[in-house]
Amino acid sequence: MIRRLPKVELHLHLEGSVQPELALALARRRGVALPGVEHGLEGVRREYARPFKTFREFVRLYVAVSSCLQEPEDFAEVTVALARSLAEQQVRYAEVTFTPMTHVSQGIPAEIITHGLNEGRVRAREEHGVELAWVFDIVRCFVDQARPTLQLALQERERGVIGLGFAGPEQPRWPYEPFAAVFAEARAEGLRALPHAGEGMGPESIRGALEVLGAERIGHGVRCVEDPELVALLRARRVPLEVCPTSNVATGVVPSLERHPLPKLLAAGLEVSLASDDPPMFGTTLTDEYLRCAGAFGWSPGQVLDLAAAAVEHSFMPEDAKAALLEEQRRVATGAPS
Ligand SMILES: [Zn+2]
Repeated sequence: MIRRLPKVELHLHLEGSVQPELALALARRRGVALPGVEHGLEGVRREYARPFKTFREFVRLYVAVSSCLQEPEDFAEVTVALARSLAEQQVRYAEVTFTPMTHVSQGIPAEIITHGLNEGRVRAREEHGVELAWVFDIVRCFVDQARPTLQLALQERERGVIGLGFAGPEQPRWPYEPFAAVFAEARAEGLRALPHAGEGMGPESIRGALEVLGAERIGHGVRCVEDPELVALLRARRVPLEVCPTSNVATGVVPSLERHPLPKLLAAGLEVSLASDDPPMFGTTLTDEYLRCAGAFGWSPGQVLDLAAAAVEHSFMPEDAKAALLEEQRRVATGAPS
């Protein structure tokens, strides 16, 4: 049932979705020193499969893959490849995080990026039937990139940008306050505030995302379990968490899937959806997240359906599309005729 179930993906990075084969092709095309490239595809695959010991090691691979994207066709190609993979998993709609200033700061003009993303998004819909929305992401250690990211997001609103993300090393030295004005402006303009928080740091960071940035959903947020008052607050405000279990194991946020706090989050009545984050870099897919969690936590088909429906509810799809997808999920899950 999990494989056939129509799905929505809410926490997925475009640059982190590039498969090793495509990363190698792009690296060769653009002359980029991707880790492992000297040993060909096997070398790149080994780098992807290497368990990340630190967030910094993960970022090294992520940045190297990002720097392979240089021309409009590169951005389009990775977008279409992502859509193909999503379509194979019955993902109908995805809110995809993309970090424009990473590329702009390496000398890629914003027009090249947006041209490629838009072409990719149109082809995703036409060739694979997958609807993509963009979340333009700000890296928390680069304060001066916040306003240009907002400007680009506003400019591209008609081409699928729905919100601002916020990611990078979650550490006390990179506080939320310098970003408050940009997020307030984004929200006033109707963009969604969709920061990562509660992954590298604990409850105080989630509170910062809520109070300083006005977060409407939290990327990860799993460490809220350390603070019952925060759990109560998230429940009262119905702030959804985008939970990426395999990612959390890979980056050492939790020691193992079996010890992941996901069952606790659900038992506490929090709004939760499952997501894959950077799937090939963490050796997963959205389908795998459902399969692994259903196995580890003994979920019934009804519980799987509830989680898949939660992703639809927490998304920013148009209401009529949400209703149609929820109905389709119910039909597939119950085996009812269409
Ligand atoms: Zn993420």
